[in-house]
Amino acid sequence: MYAQVIVDLSAEAVDRQFTYAVPAGMDVRPGQLVEVPFGPRTLEGFVVSLSGSCDLPPEKVKPIRRVTRGEPAILPDLMELAEWMHARYLCNLVDALRLMLPSEMRSGRVRERTERCARLNLTEEQIDAFAAANPRAKKQIELLMRLRDGDLMTARIGEKSALKALVDKGAIALYDREHRRTPHVMRGDESTADPELLPEQRRAVDQLTAALPGGGRFLLHGVTGSGKTEVYIRLIRRALEVGRTAIVLVPEIALTPQMAAWFHGRFGGDAAVLHSALSAGERFDEWRRIRSGEARVVIGARSAIFAPVNNLGVIVVDEEHETSYQSDHRPRYDAREVAWKRADQHGAVLVLGSATPSITTYMRAMPGVRPENRLTLIELRQRANGRPMPEVEVVDMRGEFERGNHSIFSAKLAGELRRCLDDGHQAMLFINRRGHSTFVSCRACGYVVKCDQCDVTMTWHQAENALRCHYCGRTLPPPKKCPKCGSKYIKYFGAGTQKVQEEVRRLFPDARVARLDIDTTREKDAHERILSRFKRGEANVLVGTQMIAKGLDFPNVALVGVVAADLSLNLPDYRSVERTFQLITQVAGRAGRAEVPGRVVVQTYDPEHYGIALAAAQDYRAFYTRESAHRRAALYPPFTMIARIIYSGRDAGTVAAAAQADEARLGAYLDESGARADTVQLGAMEAPISMIRGDTRWQLLIKLYFKADLEAVAARMQALADAAPDGVRAELEINPNSMI
Ligand code: ADP
Ligand code: ZN
Ligand code: ZN
Repeated sequence: MYAQVIVDLSAEAVDRQFTYAVPAGMDVRPGQLVEVPFGPRTLEGFVVSLSGSCDLPPEKVKPIRRVTRGEPAILPDLMELAEWMHARYLCNLVDALRLMLPSEMRSGRVRERTERCARLNLTEEQIDAFAAANPRAKKQIELLMRLRDGDLMTARIGEKSALKALVDKGAIALYDREHRRTPHVMRGDESTADPELLPEQRRAVDQLTAALPGGGRFLLHGVTGSGKTEVYIRLIRRALEVGRTAIVLVPEIALTPQMAAWFHGRFGGDAAVLHSALSAGERFDEWRRIRSGEARVVIGARSAIFAPVNNLGVIVVDEEHETSYQSDHRPRYDAREVAWKRADQHGAVLVLGSATPSITTYMRAMPGVRPENRLTLIELRQRANGRPMPEVEVVDMRGEFERGNHSIFSAKLAGELRRCLDDGHQAMLFINRRGHSTFVSCRACGYVVKCDQCDVTMTWHQAENALRCHYCGRTLPPPKKCPKCGSKYIKYFGAGTQKVQEEVRRLFPDARVARLDIDTTREKDAHERILSRFKRGEANVLVGTQMIAKGLDFPNVALVGVVAADLSLNLPDYRSVERTFQLITQVAGRAGRAEVPGRVVVQTYDPEHYGIALAAAQDYRAFYTRESAHRRAALYPPFTMIARIIYSGRDAGTVAAAAQADEARLGAYLDESGARADTVQLGAMEAPISMIRGDTRWQLLIKLYFKADLEAVAARMQALADAAPDGVRAELEINPNSMI
């Protein structure tokens, strides 16, 4: 017997299957993890397949050393999915396989935790007989009595000699019991009852459930607070009833605890959570609970799409518009695409849910789409609590400045905040930046402090009183006078979360302000702690970045303030308007979710911009029409594909030469293959951020019409990237999340 094995080593040269002999008596199955000799080393590897014969001369074939784990770690459908990813994302097979197993499963660093337990071997009569026969063995009799009420961990048994004596006599037996490390959010045992569905929700559940037998793909477009989660829960309940399982993806770890707790309340031990903020032991145990079929509903961030469930019936991608579904390192997969593929494999129901679907997704729910790309649109137009959508007011900050208000709060927002606090309600203030102030610039000459290693603006952080580069982490003391003109009017500009927090404290001494951003959530469970403080009302103002925009549900929030709506509008990215629209709509949606009516104040320097005006009007359809027309005219995705290779390296000349040489090669390929006719744009140029950590960056950018053979061009570009010269790193990105 021979096994085809992929070694757990990420390198071009070993990205193929190696043949090993299966020693007699060793039970090897596809999907298993094994240890194999590899050159002078021993490596772990994945068994891909088995065969009875092999083309190599027998003396060339080395035997498998041992099986690391008895149960196959990779299920057959996931093996197939890995192969699909290998082709689709041009990644090494092993990189795809690694996504399917938490790292702690592979390295063997983490193991099941077991505890030694004692169990009674005697019946009641036998205990009595034992007591009668050994009247002087008081300790032993006492221990037998305790064990009558249930098994005990040996660590809890003080009398070691009595324990040993009873074991020797066969009166009790010792065994190892597996101890599960349960994530914090999954520990409670209160279960919540199902609310009665609203008519819209009921129709949605019925339509989705009807697709369970054969599978289907849906876009659930529901306004914020329309109760999409309840729709997911009911659909999943039906799937479990017919013996199937479910995966629910949430965009970020910030949201996973809330969703996980929600599902735990409804599905109890049937729910499991998978995300990177769990401890290694917790992740390991949750994974095994899923693998064994004990947990049938998986809630998690992006990579939970690879959870080892059998007989998948439902995949939900909540807040599908979020960029975090797209991985920004290899393999650069998109969890929505993988979900689509996995739903196909299993004939499952795929539900993409959002109040602000991405333009690309929404287009697939419009008429005229080819059947294989089509999504069925289901809409929820009403809020589940019967409350109206919150009122949104746009404040023009230019007017404020003219009136002499140089504060970061308009008179309107300050007044609303005062009222909100006086009424005993809570407020959320959203700012699209972390840190205290965004940048430091000179009012006399306009000089801006930039990182000299990265060509990006540095950010002032109050806690360390330092300027920090968010790309390389370098810090500098803030300058006292302008390095360029010597003026002392060098000031902190823009407002970050920290600055907003301080301003609130200064203007409203009675406010209890909590802050949620990357800086305050570095520690494990910090997200959850901050949010539950706010939920319990210990804080009445929550200041935060994107993290507070999504999915959070706090009934007492009466006011939402968007401190600077334009910050995300002018990024060098074709999706910046879409992002701004989504952010404002999502943040606004946090207000007025229960009895307390909601108010939203959006501050901006550009109130007429359609991204802001239509978000304020909460008119998704009008926004979609406008934005998709713009994309079509400007030849942006989803009407075209953008791909680029990023080149970086120490030596600027070498990097530029590599990019320019590839431009010529790719150009020649486009001519030969006939793809030139479908090419909108091709060029090698400095990347928008031309240096990071002292490395020069160039990009080779191509824009193609969709009718082109995109996969062929991408494969050609991957080959160019793989063949980059010494001293240059080259990486291919398809429709990248950000174009820095
Ligand atoms: P969405 O994700 O669509 O923004 P949520 O799923 O967060 O909305 O639901 C908003 C609120 O409405 C939640 O507090 C939820 O518990 C509540 N809710 C949902 N469906 C119902 C229902 N049928 N009856 C009562 N409350 C509901
Ligand atoms: Zn200056
Ligand atoms: Zn830097």
